[in-house]
Amino acid sequence: MASKRKIATCSLAGCFGCHMSLLDIDERLLELLELADFDRSPINDIKAIHGVVDIGLIEGGVCNVENVHLLHHFRDHCRILVAVGECAMTGGIPSMRNHHSLKSCLEESYIRGVGVENAHIPDDPELPLLLNKVYPLHEVVRVDYYVPGCPPSADALWHVLSALVTGRDPHLPPALLKYD
Ligand code: SF4
Repeated sequence: MASKRKIATCSLAGCFGCHMSLLDIDERLLELLELADFDRSPINDIKAIHGVVDIGLIEGGVCNVENVHLLHHFRDHCRILVAVGECAMTGGIPSMRNHHSLKSCLEESYIRGVGVENAHIPDDPELPLLLNKVYPLHEVVRVDYYVPGCPPSADALWHVLSALVTGRDPHLPPALLKYD
């Protein structure tokens, strides 16, 4: 029997909705687990990639320095890297801040915002530094495949994953392609 594939997943500037959609593959998860094991993922709460994995799924865009480090870590440790969902592909909703300067966004949130008390911009050194804008994954590292949608449907994720774990090239049929 061929050895099982390894899958790692993470969320950068995302809402975990894409991970929820992955869980929505329901009983097909059992079929997937016959062919692959999850390494680092919020699904099993494993915090670090062990060695090199076959497939890395990333939801969310890149909004801070911590995201940049994690994305490079995934690129360096995943043979195939998949951008999952609109945030990973385009920056998504978090990238709406790209229309404004970072200074203006911070002031609107922490100084001028409705109901703000003790107005000041957080500067704890433990907080990851924000980037000047939110970037899609492919502007930071090479990406091998994209799964569009906000979130992509469980059927689309299953289509891509079941192809990748069996060594096939995934091609989403038009019925599973959506951009929202
Ligand atoms: S693409 Fe949609 S569901 Fe996925 S992380 Fe972004 S906002 Fe959430």
